[in-house]
Amino acid sequence: MLNIIQIPVLTDNYIYLLHDPVTGETAVVDPALGQPVLDVLNEKGWRLTYILNTHHHWDHVGGNLELKQKTGCKIIGAQSDRDRIPGIDIGVSEDDVIALGGHPARVISTPGHTSGHIVYHFAEDGALFCGDTLFVMGCGRLFEGAPEQMWNSLQKLKAMPPSTRIYCTHEYTQTNGRFALSVEPDNSQLQQKMLEVQRLRAENKPTVPSTIEQELATNPFFREDSLALQKTINRVNCLPVEVFAEVRRLKDTFN
Ligand code: ZN
Ligand code: FE
Repeated sequence: MLNIIQIPVLTDNYIYLLHDPVTGETAVVDPALGQPVLDVLNEKGWRLTYILNTHHHWDHVGGNLELKQKTGCKIIGAQSDRDRIPGIDIGVSEDDVIALGGHPARVISTPGHTSGHIVYHFAEDGALFCGDTLFVMGCGRLFEGAPEQMWNSLQKLKAMPPSTRIYCTHEYTQTNGRFALSVEPDNSQLQQKMLEVQRLRAENKPTVPSTIEQELATNPFFREDSLALQKTINRVNCLPVEVFAEVRRLKDTFN
């Protein structure tokens, strides 16, 4: 089994430490900071093998250079973003397979939030590290992509096995859920999910990971097919990508 540790940092970021107990190899996904990672490595007695970056934003690569300098780890990121990922050693692109000890992960290109965004799918472990592409009941803002690009990226994630666990980089779930309810108020699974989310957050517990199955039932960016949603946003009989674009536009100004 891949050992996965979730480290909350900054206001709403999660850093993930992955450890293969058989080989001792250890990776960190999107280290916003170095020190909190070093602390856990120390406590566990683990040595860092890799940094896996999903994209170049500072809250995902901020700890790269410190961790590389202090541990000698190798940094993996999108080949197309070599110029923007500090300290990158290994550039990867769509369908490349990397391995953490005995655990393979496929690289999937998901442009939209940024042009070079990638995600790491550990299919055998049923785990997806999706950075800022997919959030619990939400998706990343379109900083460097058109709606069509992000929609295509999300289709790749939507098609994964329903039991796949979604490890995203931010705890945006409560706000995302309020927005989701605004566009699909009668979705009973969504209502249920929000009660659970509110309970978890009241206890200061993470709402991440979620699963593809839960997202299919509750995430408005996965639910272009919902007639109720289409009606709320006045996009009945439109293309799925047009429904998606309107949901994204509405979310950008929701508060
Ligand atoms: Zn980002
Ligand atoms: Fe981010």
